[in-house]
Amino acid sequence: MEAMYLLEMRQIDKQFPGVHALDHVNFRVRAGEIHALMGENGAGKSTLMKILTGLYRKDTGEIILDGQQVSFNSPLEAQRAGISTIYQEINLIPYLSIAENIHLGREPMNRTGIDWKQVNQRAERILREMGVEADVTQPLCSYGTAVQQMVAIARAISVQAKLIVMDEPTSSLDEKEVEILFRQMRKLREKGIAIIFISHRLDEVFEICDTVTILKDGKLVSESPAAELSKLELVSRMIGRDATDVLRRKNGVYQGTGGVPVLEAHGITDKEKLRGVSLRIRQGEIVGLAGLLGAGRTELAKVIFGDNPDYTGTLAVNGQEVRWKAPRDAIAKGFAYCSEDRKAEGIFSHMSVRENMTMAILPRIARRGLVNVGRQKDIVDRYIKSLSIKTPGQEQLIRNLSGGNQQKVLLARWLCMEPRLIILDEPTRGIDIGAKAEIEALIQDIAGQGISVLLISSELEELVRNCHRVIVIRDGKNIGELESDMLSEGNIMRTIAQDILQEGGACI
Ligand code: ADP
Ligand code: MG
Repeated sequence: MEAMYLLEMRQIDKQFPGVHALDHVNFRVRAGEIHALMGENGAGKSTLMKILTGLYRKDTGEIILDGQQVSFNSPLEAQRAGISTIYQEINLIPYLSIAENIHLGREPMNRTGIDWKQVNQRAERILREMGVEADVTQPLCSYGTAVQQMVAIARAISVQAKLIVMDEPTSSLDEKEVEILFRQMRKLREKGIAIIFISHRLDEVFEICDTVTILKDGKLVSESPAAELSKLELVSRMIGRDATDVLRRKNGVYQGTGGVPVLEAHGITDKEKLRGVSLRIRQGEIVGLAGLLGAGRTELAKVIFGDNPDYTGTLAVNGQEVRWKAPRDAIAKGFAYCSEDRKAEGIFSHMSVRENMTMAILPRIARRGLVNVGRQKDIVDRYIKSLSIKTPGQEQLIRNLSGGNQQKVLLARWLCMEPRLIILDEPTRGIDIGAKAEIEALIQDIAGQGISVLLISSELEELVRNCHRVIVIRDGKNIGELESDMLSEGNIMRTIAQDILQEGGACI
């Protein structure tokens, strides 16, 4: 009996430290189809493909290719089994010739060794068929990205694969080159070869793909024929919300007025996620940062707090440009940061409430290295009262407190330093509803005292309820800003949906 699917990945699970990149994902591909793998940044697409091609090891799950259970330890093993790959990052050797790159490891031989004449002729023929003009004897690096990308594709095609994985192959191609690629892809499909196609451009997906599988946050959302899916439906599934009604109203444009901002970040770019993101916060203002997982929210917070000195762009505090080397520089200017991961970065579980709360101000309340215990106790008492922290006393170990009360101790740690700006990264994650409401009330109080707040939260209701203004980012860039009447959950999601659609060059 012939297997119905060329490839079946079953219950694939993969954890990275702190990230559940793939959560028991099922993914299957038929012979002779072009299968789109869709999802927002960080959804797990590349990880799934790297597991398939032997670059990463899966934690659990099984892979069935042509009815046989397989497990590859390297891309070479996968290639021998008929799976070839074109990665997002081009994986060729720049100083070898184009022809060598196309044949690498599979060069035709004659009696004296590699048959160079044949190597070059074959490469020429393949590229000519693809409509690429290049001298195949020249080093690959003498050509631009587009040609290099085409060479990667030529290589994949010439391997005689059953299945070709293309992870964002079009991102550096122009329109004409995309057409050439698509022509090749259709030819391959006619020969019964399957292609897994990853692209951010929706139009491409609808033009070329037969089937669409959608991932979100490491989970399978759906698999369906492309013909049964509208662009709107696809986007809704990718972002996990109904994009239909939110796409109607006009976007609100923020028109800020008056005063020198407490913080102004401009064009912040880092090595990983951030691509020119900007924001400003005024005194006493609560600014929200919204975006899907992987948009770059925490990364931006880290740059603002000096926790990532490796950035370009500018930061200014009260109009004065600053350049942080470490968090201590930011702290010295009155910045505070309650991190997303209380357990890993914030709490010293074996220490008391008092020690945890006053850790950061010790230098201030100490003289010649001796802590003024009386003053320390006064401060702790004051914050236990004003934040209504439920603890039998100052000496209680913090790990014995509930999550919400631990969070309050952390907040107090920063508040007792009398900051001018506090960054709260997911401050209500993992705490119960009652404590949530209390933390939210505290945020309002803090701003009421003139402290500026940068609030990061995945819960849009929380942003809408608490913020004066919300900045929406995606892929490390600003895509919108919402305030007053325009600030709603729907508008935040609409901003994100619209950006995805625009990227696809689509109109609905
Ligand atoms: P996509 O290709 O859909 O954008 P990825 O598969 O690259 O998503 O990433 C899925 C998740 O796994 C992300 O949260 C990403 O940060 C994380 N991740 C990917 N590769 C690694 C790695 N080598 N180490 C740690 N985390 C990783
Ligand atoms: Mg990827």
